[in-house]
Amino acid sequence: MSAFKTLDDLPQDLSGQRALVRVDLNLPMKDGQATDLTRVTAVAPTILELADRGAKVLLLAHYGRPKGERHSTMSISMVQGDLERVLDREVMFIPEVAGPVAAQAIDILRPGDIGLMENVRFWPGEEANDADFAKSIAANGDFYVNDAFSAAHRAHASTEALAHLLPAYAGRAMEKELKALDAALGTPQPPVAAVVGGAKVSTKLAVLENLSRKVQHLVIGGGMANTFLAANGVHVGMSLCEHDLTDTARAIMDAADAAGCTIHLPYDVVVAKEFAANPPSMRVCNVHEVAADEMILDIGPLAVEALGDVLKTCATLVWNGPLGAFETPPFDEATVALAKTAAALTQAGALVSVAGGGDTVAALAHAGVAEDVTYISTAGGAFLEWMEGKELPGVAALSA
Ligand code: ADP
Ligand code: MG
Repeated sequence: MSAFKTLDDLPQDLSGQRALVRVDLNLPMKDGQATDLTRVTAVAPTILELADRGAKVLLLAHYGRPKGERHSTMSISMVQGDLERVLDREVMFIPEVAGPVAAQAIDILRPGDIGLMENVRFWPGEEANDADFAKSIAANGDFYVNDAFSAAHRAHASTEALAHLLPAYAGRAMEKELKALDAALGTPQPPVAAVVGGAKVSTKLAVLENLSRKVQHLVIGGGMANTFLAANGVHVGMSLCEHDLTDTARAIMDAADAAGCTIHLPYDVVVAKEFAANPPSMRVCNVHEVAADEMILDIGPLAVEALGDVLKTCATLVWNGPLGAFETPPFDEATVALAKTAAALTQAGALVSVAGGGDTVAALAHAGVAEDVTYISTAGGAFLEWMEGKELPGVAALSA
């Protein structure tokens, strides 16, 4: 990881300095109400610290996909109330991101005040990473802070171009995320185990390829394990399986072998004839005993035990993707067991554990151990691109 500046590199006293702060306020909404405030609580420390150090804090964020036009239904002003409640401060809404109206509003703010600028995607220059658009935003700032790791995989004006126009710093949430991700895959303590699950190989090909080059143990579970099993000649019956990708799976196994990475596939699986909660046809069997009318919905108890044994020998775990169809009981058992083992080893000081991905975060919460792993990334797409080994433009711009 190349070096990036943090809020510690700014003068303690920021009185009256205009901080342009990119945050992720793209909250899940239902009937005009936010259903989860995780993203707000994540960026609160950065906002409050800058305000308390006297800066005028100017928030830049996107919501939805307005495609470069104003849409009343996508105004970022709808999160103003949530923001005020979480911060316990007043937040002034500014209906522009640049130009004389924005400049005037910012002028009125006092040191320590917080302004929320309009949905930056209302302007086509945002997604185009347009230099002039970025310049017009930069004109109202003295420095730039990016606290939106989850938007860092996109090279947009407020995540990339702007970072080159002003002194640029990582916010506290960004700093924490980059340090955690570096500890998991950048410069991790070996041996490293990667667990990859989820539905399909096709969505995580690049992840599997990158991990097989970097880690000592690659554990494959979930629906994607079926494709690897099929590549090894196992009959997977009615299981979710990408039969057209068996050659690709074979190539990944060969590349892993050459790189000294051990691939772990399940010996046993939980199968059923129908996909429902606690189906009567459910049974546990060896992978070679799956009947033509059965489908694999979770990895089996022996595979879970073997996975625990691997983790006990490892210093670092990076995990993406549930091991089974965890939304439907009892096909959550392997995933819950992995979550609990990872949490226990982490709490015992034996493991650094970093997990991410929408469903993986939900699975950790479901297992009740979300607080007990080293770090959970809620960054979705950015987390996966980082697992693929890609350089994220928003991060690269901070390090330039
Ligand atoms: P994440 O969001 O953490 O990146 P994915 O979206 O890749 O994870 O995968 C999660 C989905 O994979 C879940 O909906 C889960 O039900 C599904 N899944 C896991 N194992 C199986 C399986 N054996 N058969 C069908 N679906 C599965
Ligand atoms: Mg998902």
